[in-house]
Amino acid sequence: MHREGANPENVALEDVLCDFCGEASWAAGAPCVEGHRGSLICGVCLTSAWRAVSSGSISEETDEPCTLCLENREDLRWRGLRVEANACLRCVKQAAGVLHKSKDWDWVKPERP
Ligand SMILES: [Zn+2]
Ligand SMILES: [Zn+2]
Repeated sequence: MHREGANPENVALEDVLCDFCGEASWAAGAPCVEGHRGSLICGVCLTSAWRAVSSGSISEETDEPCTLCLENREDLRWRGLRVEANACLRCVKQAAGVLHKSKDWDWVKPERP
């Protein structure tokens, strides 16, 4: 998501915020994974999402498209602090895989709680 008041013609790194908490940004040096159309999930949210997914504690189904892939998949969804955003199971797994493998960050998939 873009920070309120960001210039859509010239979006700066610090104007791109995590869609799920609305706080972490690229510019702050947080581990982040990009989705479609400027959507973003940060490492902190991904940790919560991954925990929820791996412990089987997500159960929500919705007709809203997933914030990250923009697809309306028949998949369970995870929500963070910002209830406007949701991530489908596939995106959580993909993003966790990307961040886990990335050499730029020391983020690893959290163990099962
Ligand atoms: Zn976040
Ligand atoms: Zn998705």
